[in-house]
Amino acid sequence: MSPPARIRGWCPGAWRPMATGDGLLVRVRPRLGRLSRAQLLALCDAAEAWGSGLIELTRRANLQLRGVTESGWPALMDHLAEHGLVAPDIAAERRPALLLAPDWRDDDATLEAACLLRQRLAAWPSLPHKWGLALDAGPAPVLTEASADLRLERSAEGGLLVRTDGRDRGTSVEDVEAAVDLMTRLAHWFVESGGTQAGRMRRLNAPLPAWAAVDAAPADAAPALSLGAHPLGWVVGLPFGRVQASTLRAALADDDVTGIRVTPWRRLLLEGLRTKINDGDPADGLIHDEGDPRLAMDVCPGAPHCAQASVATLGLARALAERRGKRPDGRSAGRVHISGCAKGCARGRSAELSLTGRDGRYDLILGGRADHTPIATGLGEADAVERLAALWAST
Ligand code: SF4
Repeated sequence: MSPPARIRGWCPGAWRPMATGDGLLVRVRPRLGRLSRAQLLALCDAAEAWGSGLIELTRRANLQLRGVTESGWPALMDHLAEHGLVAPDIAAERRPALLLAPDWRDDDATLEAACLLRQRLAAWPSLPHKWGLALDAGPAPVLTEASADLRLERSAEGGLLVRTDGRDRGTSVEDVEAAVDLMTRLAHWFVESGGTQAGRMRRLNAPLPAWAAVDAAPADAAPALSLGAHPLGWVVGLPFGRVQASTLRAALADDDVTGIRVTPWRRLLLEGLRTKINDGDPADGLIHDEGDPRLAMDVCPGAPHCAQASVATLGLARALAERRGKRPDGRSAGRVHISGCAKGCARGRSAELSLTGRDGRYDLILGGRADHTPIATGLGEADAVERLAALWAST
């Protein structure tokens, strides 16, 4: 293993921004996984007025601004509050995050559960900062790879079930009300069983109580939303999860766009849009093609944006994407993870190929996480590109 990264153990928010290599990082959790058109325009304005002009979409479907100064943060918070982009206070912001399947509908169980939980979470016990719930009650789960501690899903027969993360099967429930009741009991049980020390549900080695006995498996997982036309609008990709505010504003130029839905897959669903943006111009700062090699890459901001990074990541990622070229399907291609340090923020799971920064050089890891044992160390950027190109050529 590489030397342990500095794990902070808490997630930044808007009320509790994090100091990084390029200023404060301010994270916005879109309520119900959606921003109206006006809210997104307000966020674009905020990114340009108080941040670096860049907006990032995280793998937990949050939006974040970088480069905010200490002196600018209070005015930024006023602006975010005015547009309904932040929780009313730090206590509300610290409640467990709700990750919704992005294609929820107005009358479905995912939205009903989210609304019920929003009313009840204030009465939940205090939980570790990274705790979250995946509300994924469409016909087939789509959030199985996203980070969450409790999951609301459907079985192959169509019934609702609540599944604790790390277990293959869940507990059947009659309806959404019963699901929220069970999630509430499980949150209390987690704390009473020593979960606060474990941190996450999957790390808690305690048998489930009898009242939460598992009896159903979720339906087979469905893939992420495809780029292009969708019944609710149009899906676009963000290169490495980053986009300039000006690019997003241009994407809203079509009056048909009513809002956006965020996803944990570096993709945005533009609600109401019926036609390609900019004719799918590959140079417009968005991804329109499933064969784009950047879709198969997970890349953290790296140096100089993150103070813990000893290497830059984004230039290397672009060089590798050019070298790799278009894939038949960028989603299913072997994944490449580029990480500024061993913490591996951009991808918690293994990847076919990982390049991890250490002491200003790159380690190459095959089939592991960013902190796993490398097969080569001390690579410069050009060496790393050549090593990966050689591996691709041989497969
Ligand atoms: S993985 Fe990247 S973003 Fe995360 S702490 Fe390390 S350098 Fe920073």
